[in-house]
Amino acid sequence: MDNQHPLKRTAFLWLCLTVLPLLGYAQRAGYWQQAASYKMNVHLDAAAHTMQGTQRLVYTNNSPDTLRRVFYHLYFNAFQPGSMMDVRSRTLPDPDSRIGDRIYHLNDDEIGYQHIQSLKQDGRPVSFSIQNTIMEVKLNKPILPGEQAVFDMKFDSQVPIQIRRSGRDNAEGIDYSMTQWYPKMAEYTADGWQTHPYVEREFIGVWGNFDVKITIDSSYTIGGTGYLQNPQQVGHGYEDPAQPLRRPGGGELTWHFYAPNVHDFAWAADPDYKHETYQVPDGPTVHLLYVPSEATKHWDILGKKTVQAIQFYNKHVGTYAYKQYSVVQGGDGGMEYPMCTLITGERSPRSLVGVMAHELAHNWFYGMLGSNESRFPWMDEGFTSHFSARAMKELFNSKGNPLLGSYMGYLYIKYLGLEEPSNTQADRFTTNMAYGISSYSKPAAFLDQLSYVVGKNNFDRAIHRYFDTWRFKHPTPEDFERVVEKESDMVLDWYFNFWWNSTDEIDYSISDVSQRGDSVDVNLKRLGNATMPLDVQVTYKDGSKELHNIPLGLMRNTKPAEEEYGKRYTHPDWAWTLPEYTMSFKPHGDIASIVIDPSNRLADVNRLNNRNHFPLQVHWLEPTRPDWNHYNVSARPALWYGIDAGLRLGFTSSGSYLFGDRAMDLDFFLTSGSLEDYRTTNTDADYRLSYTRKLDNWGLETYLRASARRYYGIFGESLELSKHLGQFGALESTDKTLSLKLFHQVKTADRQSDGLDNYWEPGSVYGAKLSFEFGDARTNGFSLNTVAAAHKSRLNASYAEWVSNRTLEWADRGTTRFGFNFGLAAGSLPTQYRFSMAGPTSEQLWENETFTSFYNMVGTQTANDIHLLAKGGNGLLGYGLSGIGSPDRFGNNYWSATIWNTYAPFKQAPFNLELFAGAGKSWNGRFFGDMPILGSNKDKSILASIGTGATYDLSALQTFSRWTAQSRFLQKLQLSLRMPFYMHSLNGHDDFKPRLVFGISETF
Ligand SMILES: [Zn+2]
Repeated sequence: MDNQHPLKRTAFLWLCLTVLPLLGYAQRAGYWQQAASYKMNVHLDAAAHTMQGTQRLVYTNNSPDTLRRVFYHLYFNAFQPGSMMDVRSRTLPDPDSRIGDRIYHLNDDEIGYQHIQSLKQDGRPVSFSIQNTIMEVKLNKPILPGEQAVFDMKFDSQVPIQIRRSGRDNAEGIDYSMTQWYPKMAEYTADGWQTHPYVEREFIGVWGNFDVKITIDSSYTIGGTGYLQNPQQVGHGYEDPAQPLRRPGGGELTWHFYAPNVHDFAWAADPDYKHETYQVPDGPTVHLLYVPSEATKHWDILGKKTVQAIQFYNKHVGTYAYKQYSVVQGGDGGMEYPMCTLITGERSPRSLVGVMAHELAHNWFYGMLGSNESRFPWMDEGFTSHFSARAMKELFNSKGNPLLGSYMGYLYIKYLGLEEPSNTQADRFTTNMAYGISSYSKPAAFLDQLSYVVGKNNFDRAIHRYFDTWRFKHPTPEDFERVVEKESDMVLDWYFNFWWNSTDEIDYSISDVSQRGDSVDVNLKRLGNATMPLDVQVTYKDGSKELHNIPLGLMRNTKPAEEEYGKRYTHPDWAWTLPEYTMSFKPHGDIASIVIDPSNRLADVNRLNNRNHFPLQVHWLEPTRPDWNHYNVSARPALWYGIDAGLRLGFTSSGSYLFGDRAMDLDFFLTSGSLEDYRTTNTDADYRLSYTRKLDNWGLETYLRASARRYYGIFGESLELSKHLGQFGALESTDKTLSLKLFHQVKTADRQSDGLDNYWEPGSVYGAKLSFEFGDARTNGFSLNTVAAAHKSRLNASYAEWVSNRTLEWADRGTTRFGFNFGLAAGSLPTQYRFSMAGPTSEQLWENETFTSFYNMVGTQTANDIHLLAKGGNGLLGYGLSGIGSPDRFGNNYWSATIWNTYAPFKQAPFNLELFAGAGKSWNGRFFGDMPILGSNKDKSILASIGTGATYDLSALQTFSRWTAQSRFLQKLQLSLRMPFYMHSLNGHDDFKPRLVFGISETF
């Protein structure tokens, strides 16, 4: 607890601000900063959610410029329909889900506002105007360099429903999260006025002292920035228990806080807060304020962890300057403020400690190093993410590089192709994801990479020097760069420019290793635009290692040897314009491996080419996971017995690099054929081989896929180029995919598989398929496929198929889907492409491995008995049953329209009830020449059915998740039981009659 008199504190600060920098390092020559000290008196009406306040602000112009205007932030104004924040959120491709369109729907009593009742400069009223969250004040009298002005303001505010960061009644029921809550003077720096409107992201404030009196109903406990000055009148856990509590009478309490040398002030209030304190030895007191419940039970470890985290940052960055730090339940996630954080509290232990550790680290990189995070968000979030990741490793005793996750985030946005330079103004990133990665992950990883460039010891010293030089000031990116340059004695503009201003990527490769006399030549290639110094590790067969360092000429120096990587050899410089370099050395034995960057600190986008051998890793019976250093293949044996197919034995495998790039599938099976009727001709081999490559030079989300597959006696091979359209690639809210596929299919053997055997014409089909899909054609969207194919020489065929669906949600878990399909063919279609109402085409059946596998396991007879049907057509599924006198036929043309109503009765289970109806028709002949849709002939009449059913999506079950990743069978396993109780136009059967249909795999 700290109640020291403001004067004493001023003396202490004077020491910090003037003497310490002189003893340490000088900051930028001519550096200055403004000062703003606030005295505020506010009254919060907890019934009306309104606040009345007065503010006296003493503003000192330390700049060399004469100021004729000043600006205030009125952050609460952002929470009004039509505000800049509202519109921005509704126009970003991937808005913060906490905002979305919530502001747009606020009522008058839910919005936020700041009404300025009056404003005086040095006692005389001044005129002001407000644009959204920025208030411009035209001064009566300019503020000359070195002069002060006093602003007196009266304001009243409405606390908005919590949307983002601040507001009332947060998701966990905390009454008031009072952040960005008062009219706040904008900062003026050497770069001019910093009047960024509140659009969502990041801040900068003027350094100063805050003297704040808050009057509120006495039931509330408050936590936040600043030292409580009147603890014996307030109590609520702040009081000295040895002293008498002297609460004034009345239903309200006035809390008096004082915060010295900070650039913001935040608080939160709730009547149910529990208040605990912990002490950092020789450091600040930690206050926890939270509402105890089952959901917040893990706060029991948080106090101790906060103490440890403060000690970690004290050691690795610099000493925390204040005597108090509060972790307060509130806000909408985690947000940093001077001397405190507001975090949501209903979390797992790791998540709770993680958010605390992150927000706490901000007190170094935002609280004490007051960077302009609005202009350079990475300066705050990047350093914070870097150090909090390292703190978490220590707090939880974890293994491995704590920054691997940051590298992965960076590599992921590289993979998506959506990266934007880190030096983008925080609100100006075109996607939320680019903001997140460029401000958090990339700089966190690139700080780790900086330690690779300059050496770990230089890096550690530079961080301390940066903190000592720039605390209580506003450092710029260049200020950090200069500190690192001075501490390492290296020229580093090339590195920082690459990091901040470009999206260049690093890709070095070992292209060749050759023996020349008694020395070895390693040929290295630079494939990316970014240039870096290289560490190349040579490992010998006896286990010994050595490190070959290739400095980048631009650096004018090289890092000191880092002990953990073995004896070091330094090679001549690699000039940055040279795409290739040969590293020669005399080996000390037989070489086992050569690898670029054994430390994993180089953000190389492709590490498959960083070694002299292709780094393949095979996992038996385990799914692959993102692995930066290896191409991962997951393989498992597969064995099953089917009544029709007999014994089936083989393996399936799939592989990929990082986020699914270079995806490969390889399966191989031998099938015996039915055992009762065993003939060697029935024995057959099935296989599948496919490879997908992302084509980065063809724009976002472009893939080339080559595939060869033999399955149940049918062979198919194809080459497919697909492109997702749109500016934001994977982030597009509606997927639009254009693809072109060249294919060849041929039946190679007669096999025991009903559906396929009888409905596949002999002979090769060569063709091309052009497809466009908008959204998901099976739920919300449409697809158009056009196929031109040649079948033998006698059959030429082409067709086009339109599939469209629109799903409407009419209740929490209820939907109605309207579907309309039609297919048109010219010429005579090969049987495998012919349409039917009730089921898939033979080609679709051939592609549906889940169904065909299951079908073969149970056998044709059982499949017929249990009425097993595959997905296909447009859901007039009863017509596929054998023995019902179905008038359905395979035709060259079809149309169908359906309505499906589904309802999920249980919130958690992937179980749906259905009521559906549909009508349609398939027929041969030309579409326009054979139109009679309504006719007396039963064969030509429309088919229609009404039914009810239930589905269970096994692939969505957590129980199977261990195996789903490895099994195409499980990935699509969905069971359905349906009863078409009305079916029109059956031959010799009643139209009304319950019939059961059992379905498997991706049904509708
Ligand atoms: Zn942060």
